[in-house]
Amino acid sequence: MIERMLQIVAPHHCYGCDKIGSTLCDNCKYNIIDDPFLGCIVCRKATSSHGVCDGCRTSFERAWIVTERTDDVQDTLDGYKFGRQMASARVFAELLDKRLPDFHQMNVTIVPIPTISPHIRQRGYDHMSLIAKELARRRKLPYSTILARKTNAVQLGSSRLERLANAKDAYGLKYRPNPETTYLLIDDVVTTGATLQFGAKALRDHGASAVWVAAIARQPLDKAA
Ligand SMILES: [Zn+2]
Ligand SMILES: [Zn+2]
Repeated sequence: MIERMLQIVAPHHCYGCDKIGSTLCDNCKYNIIDDPFLGCIVCRKATSSHGVCDGCRTSFERAWIVTERTDDVQDTLDGYKFGRQMASARVFAELLDKRLPDFHQMNVTIVPIPTISPHIRQRGYDHMSLIAKELARRRKLPYSTILARKTNAVQLGSSRLERLANAKDAYGLKYRPNPETTYLLIDDVVTTGATLQFGAKALRDHGASAVWVAAIARQPLDKAA
């Protein structure tokens, strides 16, 4: 309702082409979907369809990234995270939905990477939770917040080593994992892959039998710390 009223007062513009109506228009969404990131989520080398190469050890078996982080995607993400453009939750859920394969009748549970509480307070909403919920709704899959932050350490701007050290102890579980389900962790931007790795490890260490991960964008090499 509020979203609809705001649309009339201040309509969204596409971050890709400036067209009025959505934060990313269908055309620009199609261009993003048409150019998926196909490398290994950790080392970026070409890989099989699993999203992780044979040389990289991870606590998850499969990984998908919608796209390399381009200006359009970054601007849309910034508007979503810092500009109160909640409507983009749907845009990102749609991009993930289109990038992910059909899970057939598999038992998959969607889990957002938890956001630290100062950021949720600042933004007024939990940005990853909204995307993950919308993705779960689109796919008719269960949604769970089993993963919890143990610390409120901020990742942004930290060095690579600091990020790895922070991420290592960042996650705990709210309850025991269901061994019957595959947990699909959802994050926004992958830099080192440490966040998803340690999120997946927390789940595996507590008995989850399978963990997959999916993210919206891969940080380009030159911008990775
Ligand atoms: Zn556009
Ligand atoms: Zn690799």
